Amino acid sequence: MDGYQKELATAISAVRTAALVTQAVQKQITDDVLEKKDRSPVTIADYASQALICRALKEAFPDDPIVGEEDAAELRGGENAGFVDRILEELAAINVPTTAEEVCSWIDHGNGSVNSRFWTLDPIDGTKGFLRGQQYAISLALIVDGELTVAALGCPNLPLVAADESSPGSLFFAVRGEGAFVFSIEGDAIALQEATRVRTGAATDWAGARLCESVESGHSSHSRSAQITESLGITKAPVRLDSQAKYAVVARGEADIYLRLPTRSDYQEKIWDHAGGALVVQEAGGTVSDVNGKPLDFTRGHELTSNRGVVVSNGPLHDAIVNAVQAAGIS
Ligand code: AMP
Ligand code: MG
Repeated sequence: MDGYQKELATAISAVRTAALVTQAVQKQITDDVLEKKDRSPVTIADYASQALICRALKEAFPDDPIVGEEDAAELRGGENAGFVDRILEELAAINVPTTAEEVCSWIDHGNGSVNSRFWTLDPIDGTKGFLRGQQYAISLALIVDGELTVAALGCPNLPLVAADESSPGSLFFAVRGEGAFVFSIEGDAIALQEATRVRTGAATDWAGARLCESVESGHSSHSRSAQITESLGITKAPVRLDSQAKYAVVARGEADIYLRLPTRSDYQEKIWDHAGGALVVQEAGGTVSDVNGKPLDFTRGHELTSNRGVVVSNGPLHDAIVNAVQAAGIS
């Protein structure tokens, strides 16, 4: 991974640091917060995560633009202004003492534009999962000349050992052409040699295949995926989880297919919702396209305007699943 060693190390370290804050904030979510549908924990964690990651990238690669999901306008005087002190407290708790002005400037460093070389960041992907105490992801990717090049995908609630709830969360990473790996999201040192290679599953027929999809039926049509899986004879129950943790479970073979089937004609997928996860899956041996089988085009701006929906597979099943999606009339 010689070519992008510094980028990878910086991305991993930044995502790990951000996870310290998101994990601390998620632990504070009480039933009361849930009942009130109070979004303040995710707001605080989201801004803090973007601030920390942009701070790290700005220091290591001052000329690289970052296309992040958040901006600080709302913190500077909008309806979220009251959250600044809480963000400062969370950052101080992980030994990053700072000021409101500095936090806002880090967050706004993430308002860059798509360029020949740029990063894209979702500081908390799967906010609904985060609030429910379930899956969410911190997704960071470097795109060079339109190609996904480096990815760090933190999944703080996805056990490192599949299905072992007592194991720590997972951090997946990949460099183009070098494979995909996972290691614990906890721990300080970046011991790349401790990482384990991940590979997609080997299913070549529907009987052995498992599908994953969003928990939120507003983000991907459950009824259409059920229709497709039934028509193919997929019998295993779908796994539903929030965030790019779906890419992670396909990358390590716990699921073979991830479908994101449009629910609205006017919704465009956002680059930060896919870049990190897509490289991890591709480097694990899988395939990523839109519902028409077209590769995702990360050169168009903040949105995947030349694509519709997303289809992810272990690789061998890809053409067949795209055909099935097409046969269901989805395009
Ligand atoms: P997930 O956790 O996979 O359900 O996806 C979470 C992401 O869905 C969020 O980061 C949003 O950017 C994105 N999102 C919001 N509305 C839609 C929609 N109508 N269709 C697809 N994705 C959406
Ligand atoms: Mg997102």
